[in-house]
Amino acid sequence: MTTPNACLSREDIPPYGFVELISVNGNDATIANSARTSYADGTKKSSGDETLIRYLLSHSHWTPFEMCSVLVRIRAPIPIVVQLLRHRSMSFNQESARYSITKDEMWRPTEDNPLRRQSVGQTSTSEDSQQWLNEAMVLWNKSAELNQMIYENYIDMIEHGIAREQARFTLPQSMYSTIVIHCNIRSLLTFLSLRDDSHAQLEIQAIAKSMDAQIRPYFPFAFSAYNNYMKGGLVLSATELAGKVSNMSAREKSEFETKLSQLRKLVERNDRQG
Ligand SMILES: Cc1cc2nc3c(=O)[nH]c(=O)nc-3n(C[C@H](O)[C@H](O)[C@H](O)COP(=O)(O)OP(=O)(O)OC[C@H]3O[C@@H](n4cnc5c(N)ncnc54)[C@H](O)[C@@H]3O)c2cc1C
Repeated sequence: MTTPNACLSREDIPPYGFVELISVNGNDATIANSARTSYADGTKKSSGDETLIRYLLSHSHWTPFEMCSVLVRIRAPIPIVVQLLRHRSMSFNQESARYSITKDEMWRPTEDNPLRRQSVGQTSTSEDSQQWLNEAMVLWNKSAELNQMIYENYIDMIEHGIAREQARFTLPQSMYSTIVIHCNIRSLLTFLSLRDDSHAQLEIQAIAKSMDAQIRPYFPFAFSAYNNYMKGGLVLSATELAGKVSNMSAREKSEFETKLSQLRKLVERNDRQG
């Protein structure tokens, strides 16, 4: 018999979130051996697992990565759960607020994850002054008080016999929900490339980083290839390769400049090494 909350590893994400790795199916050898089915007798030579996995990932030969999977349980604020649910190639099961009573757990800023100022033009964050932060906290605390009153009224509604599926409509976005995700390693790496990225909201980045840290030890070669070709790589468009700056929008120009500066640093490092 399985214990309902048994897991291989867990990381808490304050104030009430967590990422639990429940089970892992397969390993790097499963991926490599699945690919070798494609290259049976008569093909040139067999590679080691690591070399083969690097080749597969760098040439978008994705199906062998679909032979392994993970099961993960995540607790996160509702807007973050909604972002997770957008990844259609994964399978989900979510805590029901129709049948169960939603717990009194709401997102709030923490020392490690304080309120951020809305930045102009992009979603990245900047350092904020203590004075701005203090004023922002006064506003936040006002909302937190109102949310607490709403939660208490939700409980009163349930005690009055109002259907849970309707009473929940009053609950704030900052409430938490729990989901279980099952996905293959191809979907997982695609998910990580999108959500463990500076363009994604910091709160989902924290979840993606935790998934990466807990799952990586089971697939060291696949994750190393992911780091090399997906996460840490640099893609140049045809316009960029042709250097046609006049055809670029302001945003494209700025992204191109960032890429050029990365490449300049690479050339300088190469020159220094000899
Ligand atoms: C930084 C960021 C900001 C975002 N902002 C918004 C936003 O403002 N509004 C919004 O609505 N969404 C937003 N999204 C969600 C985004 O549009 C995607 O829905 C989400 O990232 C899932 O990506 P996906 O479709 O690649 O993944 P999955 O749904 O897991 O699909 C995986 C892959 O399967 C294939 N696939 C799946 N379904 C189809 C299909 N129907 N047709 C063809 N191929 C398919 C594609 O190759 C896809 O990449 C944002 C995502 C990010 C990362």
